[in-house]
Amino acid sequence: MADKKFYQIIEKTLLGERLSSDDCLVLFEGDDLVALGAAADQIRNSFHPEGIATYCVDRNINYTNVCDVYCTFCAFYRPPGGHPESYVRTKEEIKEKIDELYSLGGKQILLQGGHHPDLRIEWYENLFSWMKTEYPDIHLHALSPPEIHHISKLEDMPYEVVINRLHQSGLDSIPGGGGEILVDRVRNKISKLKVNTEGWLEIMRVAHGLGLRSTATMMFGHVETLEERVEHLSSLRELQDQTKGFTAFICWTFQNDGSATLRVPTVGSSEYLKTLSISRLFLDNIPNFQSSWVTQGMKIGELSLHYGANDMGSTMIEENVVSSAGTTYCLNEEDLSVMAKNAGFLPKRRNFFYELV
Ligand code: SF4
Repeated sequence: MADKKFYQIIEKTLLGERLSSDDCLVLFEGDDLVALGAAADQIRNSFHPEGIATYCVDRNINYTNVCDVYCTFCAFYRPPGGHPESYVRTKEEIKEKIDELYSLGGKQILLQGGHHPDLRIEWYENLFSWMKTEYPDIHLHALSPPEIHHISKLEDMPYEVVINRLHQSGLDSIPGGGGEILVDRVRNKISKLKVNTEGWLEIMRVAHGLGLRSTATMMFGHVETLEERVEHLSSLRELQDQTKGFTAFICWTFQNDGSATLRVPTVGSSEYLKTLSISRLFLDNIPNFQSSWVTQGMKIGELSLHYGANDMGSTMIEENVVSSAGTTYCLNEEDLSVMAKNAGFLPKRRNFFYELV
């Protein structure tokens, strides 16, 4: 139940005061979604008063589905050792996908994959420099912290050396994937083999220190408690205070159609909107919030622009990881424009750095 304290905390955030972790937990325990949405909308408006909702034209490319981390929520990976459905994309296949993106006017690639035990750092360096030679104006948003951690372990190299080498080869920015919930109790339940909380944060800290920007994410609605959601948000806010390296925050719900090992029901859209709003109120130092229409569909995607989001993320030509385990939606530029207009905003295309293009 929402009580007096709940409304006092909302008042506090609207006066520009920073919320404590205890405040954040009170908001999660309250139930006035409309009040949370209205406050988040006001905060969104203070960051972005121009009346526009932005989006990006890019595409996902998964370079391999081979992975030895076995996350319980993931139905995308195939184990190493010659599984008949495993793949490593060739340059020709990647070129075909980039050409398709360029024909739509997009220039950004989100490149991610599994932890392939045989792909050495030279493989990534070679791929990145080839992409930059073939497509000099491409923006390479690639390799989330778990993949960088994997390469670092494989090569026995510090994060800094790995990130620097990849950066020199063409890496432009880092996606915040694999954050899930940044609490080791939760991470151990998802996979004991994946980078831990401190590793994920350290990789982002090092990347930001080297001048690379990244996004921050949260996948929720699985084995975490509300306190752990708060801890996750608090770790992101603390790191952002230090580095200012996160361009945007994206949260989405675990999608379960029964194909992943993890057997928990998918949480509803109210919980999504509530978590989005509270995150907008708490993360007072991250300028942009993306809507997760990929998991929520167009109606909630549209509504999320009134619950703290100012951006609709990217057009989705291809999505494999989230969609392997549950329902997802694929939308084009026109769909994103419709969502923005329906919500009362002017749709505008942007690049990774949120500059209008
Ligand atoms: S989520 Fe990523 S790291 Fe985890 S099993 Fe799937 S591909 Fe591997």
